[in-house]
Amino acid sequence: MTDKKRPGAREHGIIIKSADEIARMRRAGQVVALALERLGQGAVPGATTLALDQMAEAVIRSFGAIPTFYNLYGYPAHVCTSVNDEVVHGIPGERALQEGDIISFDVGATVEGMMADGAVTVGVGEIAPEAARLLQVTYDALCRGLAQARPGNRVRDIARAVQRYVEANGYSVVRKLVGHGVGRKMHEPPQVPNFVDESAPGAETLAVGMTLAVEPMVNQGGPEVVQDADGWTYRTRDGSLSAHFEHTIVVTERGSEILTLRHAPTRTPAGRRCREEECRR
Ligand code: MG
Repeated sequence: MTDKKRPGAREHGIIIKSADEIARMRRAGQVVALALERLGQGAVPGATTLALDQMAEAVIRSFGAIPTFYNLYGYPAHVCTSVNDEVVHGIPGERALQEGDIISFDVGATVEGMMADGAVTVGVGEIAPEAARLLQVTYDALCRGLAQARPGNRVRDIARAVQRYVEANGYSVVRKLVGHGVGRKMHEPPQVPNFVDESAPGAETLAVGMTLAVEPMVNQGGPEVVQDADGWTYRTRDGSLSAHFEHTIVVTERGSEILTLRHAPTRTPAGRRCREEECRR
């Protein structure tokens, strides 16, 4: 029998969400998914990351939702736009995208006090085959991780599945930055790493009603990242490309539900249909 926890209860500091809270997160997740889809469509040569930020803000607010990242810890924009060797937390600005770039979009939305968080990396115009492979492997690694999200498993079962898949494909997972619990706040316990070793967190056991943001960041080269002088942007130390995919999920009796998956069919950057079944392997 599933070990069912009371909504509002805390397990290892992880808040079990009520059905009503999950319903609001589901709505926030759909706003995130739509904003990410529009950002992907808008990532064409010549588009500036600032224009994309403004477009995403308008999409989010059109649903009465709040762009969660704005002013979070002092962040100066509504979404994150990280280009090529930038890993995460790139700040939108006057930079114009060029044919062959890859860009990671990270979006948070709040609906009636509940939050969802998602990210996707897309190519700008035609991209090199090795860049396309990085995107596909990162997306597939996320799916491998999500397939381990079920009651009774530990957080590190997600991490192990992600790391194995990434490393089997010759890439590295970023260790400095990790996924997280999400819901009432953007960052809640537990930490959700993408690697497993003696120092990694992840001993917590998953239970129904826990809500997590799972977000592998995958580098073509080494796993090391450095932060720019802007205090936000992380990039690969070796200048190699980096990709980032993220979903917010809720742990259910049968496994998990992806809250940031577009209900309408969408396409991954590599052209494959993104369907919930793919994350159930
Ligand atoms: Mg996140």
